[in-house]
Formats: sequence, structure tokens, C-alpha cells
Amino acid sequence: MEIQDPRIRSLLRQANKVADAGKKAAAEQLYRQLLAEAPDVAEAWYGLGRMLNEPAEQANAYTKSVSLKPDYAPAVRALAELRGEPVPAWAIEPEEPEEEPEPEPEPEVETAVPPDDQAYELACYRHSNRSTSLRCYNCGKPICSSCAIKTPVGYSCPDCIREKEDVFFNIKPLDYLVAPAIGLVLSLVIGYLVVRFMTGLGWLTIIGAIFGGGLAGRFVGQLTKGAIGRRRGRYLPHVMVVMLVLGTAVWLLPILIFNGFASLFAFIGPGIFLFVAGGALFSYMK
Ligand SMILES: [Zn+2]
Ligand SMILES: [Zn+2]
Repeated sequence: MEIQDPRIRSLLRQANKVADAGKKAAAEQLYRQLLAEAPDVAEAWYGLGRMLNEPAEQANAYTKSVSLKPDYAPAVRALAELRGEPVPAWAIEPEEPEEEPEPEPEPEVETAVPPDDQAYELACYRHSNRSTSLRCYNCGKPICSSCAIKTPVGYSCPDCIREKEDVFFNIKPLDYLVAPAIGLVLSLVIGYLVVRFMTGLGWLTIIGAIFGGGLAGRFVGQLTKGAIGRRRGRYLPHVMVVMLVLGTAVWLLPILIFNGFASLFAFIGPGIFLFVAGGALFSYMK
């Protein structure tokens, strides 16, 4: 099976070259980038397998390669060797000549795609002083390794990640009113109970604060999420935690005012409670 797309062919040659130069991490990135665009290139799966360190991941990559191209000797050989199985006779001798005739028929392509050596002179679109060979799999912009975000399908630029998240966050403006309102009412009731029963010190208070906190956080999260149709918002978890803290702080304030800092020990129970409940609520609202 020939690779039709000249860009993919050029990417594969570039990846192989980087791999042969022993730059494993860079080569792995290039193979992954290529596979994100063209997941059916057996040679790239084989190349990726060679760059991986985990035998299970290697086996996965080789298996993919063999399933795409059952007569691709290097992958068949590598897979058999990895599994400690005998290599089939037809796959034993290294079958490189297949690669030779390729470099010639690319004259018009090289104008569109930077030649291999220039590929490293791409500059990160966010850091013009950093050269890179990575591109976002989604929009193709060059990204440096500190801007690249690894995703299951390849490296992505921060812009594309944010765009995807914006689809994921489907909250409506009214939700930002409804959710905190419900959260505040619930938190005021819960906060009252917490201040009423958890300001004494003792093991029971601490255990109660931990378990009660987990339950309360989930409870507030469940009710609120149900009320806003389970929609998600980027800042919703933060807003809800603020409501939770407010709901308890309102009841703690009089204690602080009337008893002063001598009453600080009374804050330990509510403090633990808020810490646990806040964490539970935050992760539930995400
Ligand atoms: Zn992008
Ligand atoms: Zn960058």
C-alpha cells in the first residue's frame, strides 16, 4: 500500500530521519502527529513502536502496523521478537529496498512543505524565539514543546484546547444566577448546622467534619447541577465553593466578633468541614 498524500510521505521521511538520529522523543512526537492525520500508515505505527519504551505500548503499535499491512516485514519481525515468538521465514531478511525508490518523485511538493532540515526552523506561534518541529494536529500552527498539550490524538495548541473546552462548557447565563442562589441557600442551612455542632473540639467533631464535609459537598453539587440541567461552566465550580464558604462564614462571624480571637479553636471543625466539602463540591461541579 503506497502512501498517497505527499505531505504524509514527507512527514514519514522526516520522522524516520529523526528516529535514525536517535532523537527518540522528537521522533515519537512526529510519528504521533503523522498518525493523528493519517492513522492508517503502517510504517508510522512501526516507527512509533520503535520509539516507545513500554513493551505493552510497543506491542500495541506493532500490532496496529501488522493489522494494516500484514506483509510489512519489519513490523512482523519486531512484533515476533517482542513476544519471543519465532519470526516467520519470509520476514527474516531485512527488506529495506522498498524504501529506496521513494525520495525521487517529490519535486513540486517540497515547495509547499519545508524540507526536512528546515522543519526545525519553524517558530512557535506564541514564542517567536523558540524553534520547533511540532505542529498542532488540529490547526497546524507550529508550537514549542512547552506550549504543546498532549492529547490522545496528538499534540494540540492551547487555542484549540480552549475552543474544545468552550464546546464542553455549555452553561447558560441564567445558570450563573440560579446555581449560586441554590448553592447559597443550601450552604446557609448547612453552615448553620456546622457552626451549631462542629465548633467544639474533639475526635467526634473532626470525624464528623470529614465525613459530613464529603456528604455535604456532594449533596450541594447534586442539587445544584440537577437544577441547571447538568450544564457545565468554566467558573461554576469556583463560584459554588465561594457560596459554600460564605454560607458557613456568615455564622462564624458573630462568634469571632463576640469572643474575639480566643474563639479561634472553634474554627477548626468548620475549617476541616469546608476544606473537605469544598473539594467534593468543586470536583462534582466540574
Ligand atoms: Zn491548534
Ligand atoms: Zn511556545
